[in-house]
Amino acid sequence: MKNYGLENWSENNFAIKDGEVIVNTKSQPSLLKITNTIRAKDVRGPIVLRFPHLIKKQIQSLYKSFDYSIKENSYKGSFKAVFPLKVNQFPHLVQAVVEAGKELKYGLEAGSKAELILAMSHIHSEAHITVNGFKDKEMITLAFIAAQSGHNITLTIEGLGELKTIIEVSKESNLSIPNIGIRVRLHATGSGSWAKSGGMDAKFGLTATEILEATKLLKKNDLLEKFTMIHFHIGSQMDDISPMKRSLREAGNIYAELKMLGASALSNINIGGGLAVNYSQDRQSAIHNYTLEEFSSSVVFLLGEIMDAKGISHPNIFTESGRFIVASHSVLITPVLELFSQDYHENLLDLKKSNPPLVTELHELYRSLTPKNSVEYLHDALDHIESLLTLFDLGYIDLQDRSNAEILVHNIIKKSLFLTKDIHTDELKQLQVHMQERYLINASIFQSLPDYWGLEQNFPVMPIHHLAQVPLRGASIWDITCDSDGEIGFNPTAPLYLHDIDLKKEEYFLAFFNTGAYQEALGMSHNLFTHPNEYTIEITNNSFRIINAEESKNILEILSSLGYDSQKLLKKLKHDLSRSEFITEKEKSATLSKLETYVYQNGYLRTTT
Ligand SMILES: *Cc1c(COP(=O)(O)O)cnc(C)c1O
Repeated sequence: MKNYGLENWSENNFAIKDGEVIVNTKSQPSLLKITNTIRAKDVRGPIVLRFPHLIKKQIQSLYKSFDYSIKENSYKGSFKAVFPLKVNQFPHLVQAVVEAGKELKYGLEAGSKAELILAMSHIHSEAHITVNGFKDKEMITLAFIAAQSGHNITLTIEGLGELKTIIEVSKESNLSIPNIGIRVRLHATGSGSWAKSGGMDAKFGLTATEILEATKLLKKNDLLEKFTMIHFHIGSQMDDISPMKRSLREAGNIYAELKMLGASALSNINIGGGLAVNYSQDRQSAIHNYTLEEFSSSVVFLLGEIMDAKGISHPNIFTESGRFIVASHSVLITPVLELFSQDYHENLLDLKKSNPPLVTELHELYRSLTPKNSVEYLHDALDHIESLLTLFDLGYIDLQDRSNAEILVHNIIKKSLFLTKDIHTDELKQLQVHMQERYLINASIFQSLPDYWGLEQNFPVMPIHHLAQVPLRGASIWDITCDSDGEIGFNPTAPLYLHDIDLKKEEYFLAFFNTGAYQEALGMSHNLFTHPNEYTIEITNNSFRIINAEESKNILEILSSLGYDSQKLLKKLKHDLSRSEFITEKEKSATLSKLETYVYQNGYLRTTT
């Protein structure tokens, strides 16, 4: 995994220069420089960096690709896209998406009442709002209010009941009526690990019979002129394009049939989201089998073909890909707090004047290791430690001897793995599994990488500096929650190697990439670790700007958000401390102010310098 597979997953967004990860645009600042600038203001704990230029890049390439395919295929409809808010609703992300999509009239998709309110308050005029998901009368009324307020909004119904409610609201009020879309239930199924949205047993969508029933209802209630869109969504992270093609054939034919049945206002086909993101650091492991160009060209070609065969004019094409738009824009940077096997650091060796012969022997082996003898000496060392442990059990050597033996063997293994790094025998691989270093990161996997915990989704991870040195330690990553699931284990088939850093002398930062989609929205406050500090980074020609600094919730805010009366709680702590005995008034008041300081900080650790 040379360079941590950067060329595999980073889409040239990041690169390595002078041993550091740089943001590969304009002034190309290094992530370390950005991190240090932020940390200079006494920021500790994990940080989320947002790069709006990467959102813009994705939106532009999506439109460019479809516009190109439309031209190539002399397709008559146009291309439109919306951002599904469920992917990430954080304010600085939504603002960046709206800003980046302004010229292209990139819209927003809402799947709940709160998201609809968010969309209505942030959308640019002319850009589209689409509404999916289950709706009650209130949510449907909200869509009428949006239409009345001048928004270009399409309410996609998931069932006949919703259509009946739309009819009801339209009769009860004089509000403008939103456009109506129908989500179709396809028999063609999705692909990828999230493929639960398509298929006949899907949670969403109308069957053929229900679609016919819906058109009758629309016609009867004079609403056919509002029926403008059909919609489907086959699932997230599509790894294969063929289910999309099957779905398009099916949905395309439904569209054409409906046009022939008199749905004259129908002019849009919304193909949902699902464009995949490459999370793989390992070149060998399978990634999605299509490019954006192939995707857009297949969609445009197929729809054109179906419509031409039935003599129907080409529909506009809508997409709702979210992961593809925002995954790459954010990077999580976490300080490493500890390397656990520093417990076996050479410095801790405390040899006696006279040591048991096997310990002396181990020391000799350690000192005279060379690339040539390392495998042989390694075997000797492994033999010796077995004998030494037996000697300890039998009472022949003491605890100090045993400690020295463990330190020596540990360091012999470490050094010989280093010296033999090009030899990959099964034995050495096995040893690496046992010798993996555990890197404790100042972050919570549950908060910042929930899909790793929930779906075993890997995110590209790498140090942001020291990249001119070869990383030698097989690594597992532990977070600071008290949960044993808060661990990214060492994977012998796709091993992660990190650097052997003396954290007393210098800091070490790991970055997790492609974390911009779903992770922040799904992140949970396990152990009461909340969303990290976040910063938006604008790269300029000469430098970079840090804007929108947003602090992680402090401890009192976290408790308040759970419903505690935080001021009452703080008062109690202060009261108990003030009444305590046996310290001077001076020390008491100093301790009180310490307590105040602590509760107004976030809950991440502050141990790194
Ligand atoms: C979740 C969802 C999307 C976005 O899917 P991505 O995989 O993020 O592209 C689009 N449309 C609908 C209806 C969804 O539910």
